Amino acid sequence: MASLLLATEDALLSGVIASPGIALGPALLVKKQPLTINRQPIAAEAIPQEMALFFQARDQSIQQLQAIEEKAYQRFGEPEAAIFEAHRLLLEDELFEAEVMAYIQQHQAALSSAIEAVIEQQALTLEQLADDYLKARAADIRDIGQRLLSNALGVPLVDLQALSKPVILVAETLTPSETAQLDVEKVLGFITRLGSSTSHTAIMARALGIPALVGVHQALELIHQDDLVLLEATNNHVVINPTAETIEAFKAQQQREQRQQRLLAVLTDHPAVTLEGHQVRLSANISHFNELSAAQQQGAEGVGLYRTEFLFMGREGLPSEAEQFQAYQAVAQQLRSGEAAVIRTVDIGGDKPLPYLNLPTESNPFLGCRGVRLYQQHPELLQIQLRAILRASAFGKLCILFPMISLVEEVHALQEQLARLKQQLHAEKQPFDPQISVGIMVETPAAAVMASHLAQIVDFLSIGTNDLTQYTLAVDRGNPLIASLYNPLSPAVLQFVKQIIDAAHQFGKSVCVCGELAGDTQATLLLLGLGLDSFSVSARAIPAIKKVIRSVHFAAAQQLAQQALIQSTAADIHRLMTQSMEKLALTDITLLQ
Ligand code: PEP
Ligand code: MG
Repeated sequence: MASLLLATEDALLSGVIASPGIALGPALLVKKQPLTINRQPIAAEAIPQEMALFFQARDQSIQQLQAIEEKAYQRFGEPEAAIFEAHRLLLEDELFEAEVMAYIQQHQAALSSAIEAVIEQQALTLEQLADDYLKARAADIRDIGQRLLSNALGVPLVDLQALSKPVILVAETLTPSETAQLDVEKVLGFITRLGSSTSHTAIMARALGIPALVGVHQALELIHQDDLVLLEATNNHVVINPTAETIEAFKAQQQREQRQQRLLAVLTDHPAVTLEGHQVRLSANISHFNELSAAQQQGAEGVGLYRTEFLFMGREGLPSEAEQFQAYQAVAQQLRSGEAAVIRTVDIGGDKPLPYLNLPTESNPFLGCRGVRLYQQHPELLQIQLRAILRASAFGKLCILFPMISLVEEVHALQEQLARLKQQLHAEKQPFDPQISVGIMVETPAAAVMASHLAQIVDFLSIGTNDLTQYTLAVDRGNPLIASLYNPLSPAVLQFVKQIIDAAHQFGKSVCVCGELAGDTQATLLLLGLGLDSFSVSARAIPAIKKVIRSVHFAAAQQLAQQALIQSTAADIHRLMTQSMEKLALTDITLLQ
């Protein structure tokens, strides 16, 4: 789509849209600067100076950690804040101070060299311990060491949780857990050199409503610190130091979008129903329990996908049953009458590693030990989580969703496990919903082909188009080099979606799409026409999707779907969809995605 904003003199970069939207602000380059350690002996007279520098660097590090701890507490609560508290306490430890002092004195060492030696010694000692939890503390020690060294050497640390002003981040890459912790008040948008639109980093950005472009190859060479950057993620453009004319156009566009948001807001309490009364469910994808109320305000009818991975990430060990119970109970208690929340059991692997599990390196993690496959090696992952979900089901309608299913046998094994845990809770006299619904993600071609068998043994199906696309087309969803081949609307994927919906309906089971395709207004008519029962999308996409559904006849959507199914190329399918949107005068809606 052509840009509405740019003047001819503007210099442009482009990449892949990870999260649509527009933003204007100064660039903050997230570049790890090298820390040069002075390993030469220093003059004896310089020793007191190096010692004084230690206290200065330590105080600065403690202050930074206090700010991060406070933020983490406000945003996520006690457990996440405790990680940074532990870091701070380690720095304040008198023994640590004494060791650094002794090293400087005995070796006539510069502070940087003393920090390096003492930290490495402590980390190695921890790494040699048998206890996995203590072993994993080595990473904490090194993290603290990096902070202290940066402050001692005067090299600024980029702390994504403690930004002092609103910025547009420019980075090589951001991990999903770094993205989950971004401060939405301060991060106006981000641009990364690597990444793809269905990576979990992109999904988080959409959930947080942060505009983002990924796969912008020259981002780090051409954008400089504090350059004014216009990120026009809706149209896949980055403008460095835009002209006054472009800035004016940006402001006007921002006002238009706000107006459109206000217009759509009137739909919040209306159902997602077509002109002749065919109703579907429109629910939210969330990654943290505190996203639910904002989603409900946008009109979400409960949660169609709670990605629980983020409860397990950015921390030092597995979340306990009590911690998980609290999170799921918080969701259950917020549900309104008629609403449900689908809690997906943890889907680790692929682009979501979990460092503290010390999983072996796999040459192809997306085809490896991911999702339910990991539960065999780590049964505690599933047991603790299922117990927590079951217990929370006493407080509101929760459903269980298993990810990355490829075999009927996997579902049988999971159901046996669930039945055992129900018995256990029953014996413990813990309340839970004995009729809790169980569904599976259909996101592998094997599951799509076997959908009619799978539909008979579960309560509902949820189509994960992000993975279904990558596995059907054999295109890594995270590889920017082949991003143009990744298309959830290619005919092969569409045929699978149709087969899955039909198979589920044949056995009276409902089907949801919870992949990113469900949040694309261009695809709404098509999915509706294929007979989809429910759409689960990021909260911000809800009003626009609802607007499309409420503006059309179901019969017209069915007609479109029939035509789409006989096309042989993705381009033809896209053309059909664009034409239908134009006919219905709904093209403006796409601005809001
Ligand atoms: C999907 O694969 O479409 C999906 C919803 O799961 P995730 O994106 O978390 O892998
Ligand atoms: Mg998936």
